[in-house]
Amino acid sequence: MLSQRKLKLIILLLLCLFAFYSCEKIADAAFSDKDDIEMGATFDKEIRSKPNEFRILENPELQRYVESIVKQLIRSPLVKRKKTYSYKVTLLDDDKAINAFCTPGGYIYVYTGLLKFLENEASLAAVLSHEIAHAEKRHVRQRMLSAMGLQLIISAVLGNGSSVFQEMGLQIAGTLALLSNSRGDELEADEWGFMYLQSSPYYQGAMSYFFEKISKEEKSTKMSKAVESLLSTHPIPEERLRANSERIRKAKIQPPIPSNLLETRYKTTIRKHLRAGSTLDGEPIDDRG
Ligand SMILES: [Zn+2]
Repeated sequence: MLSQRKLKLIILLLLCLFAFYSCEKIADAAFSDKDDIEMGATFDKEIRSKPNEFRILENPELQRYVESIVKQLIRSPLVKRKKTYSYKVTLLDDDKAINAFCTPGGYIYVYTGLLKFLENEASLAAVLSHEIAHAEKRHVRQRMLSAMGLQLIISAVLGNGSSVFQEMGLQIAGTLALLSNSRGDELEADEWGFMYLQSSPYYQGAMSYFFEKISKEEKSTKMSKAVESLLSTHPIPEERLRANSERIRKAKIQPPIPSNLLETRYKTTIRKHLRAGSTLDGEPIDDRG
């Protein structure tokens, strides 16, 4: 006999197919938080099994430092899934990737390239906040669903959920970091990320430091390959910078001061743990040219 949940999903599925009912709604109903966590765990296993694509940086102290920032951010009452999602941080060793990403279920991955590119702890908090928003708003799962189509929802509804996730994990984990974020998802993650920062000890407008540095590099003739690749997955920093300035203006937030930017602590920590050749203080990236 069909369970109530399955019956409800089948009805939603039929509505989606024949009555132009929002397929996004059915995806939300078809996948629970538990499914998201399972999907994230599958990705995580995949990522760890591919050391050529994802070189994991084993540095417990630096990892704890980044995790301590995440902990402050998820204290926000707006982060609804803090008790269910993992919000675990993995560091990836690649100085040429100025990037971070988050899988369904809240597994956060941060590249060393990003840690070296940023100049204060508040900017890292802003980027992490943005990634948390992607997980909370279930953006990656939505993207995967649109990539894999309705077929997947149908098999998830009718068939065995976990094998479906495994299949999804296998197909997508390898390219996850390269998947482009949609403009709408980026703007939404910026918006929520800004709100999560409100209850943290960090300067709430800190994302602007990151955007400003990217746009400066974008305009310069010697844009690094790392920035070029960042722009291909995280487009439109100009528009995002404008939107953030507008948020700062409207929210009348506390201005940036040393104690909410934490530049010295950040730079000391990064220098202690990551080898030289960084972009800190405008030092050239090795592959610039
Ligand atoms: Zn994003």
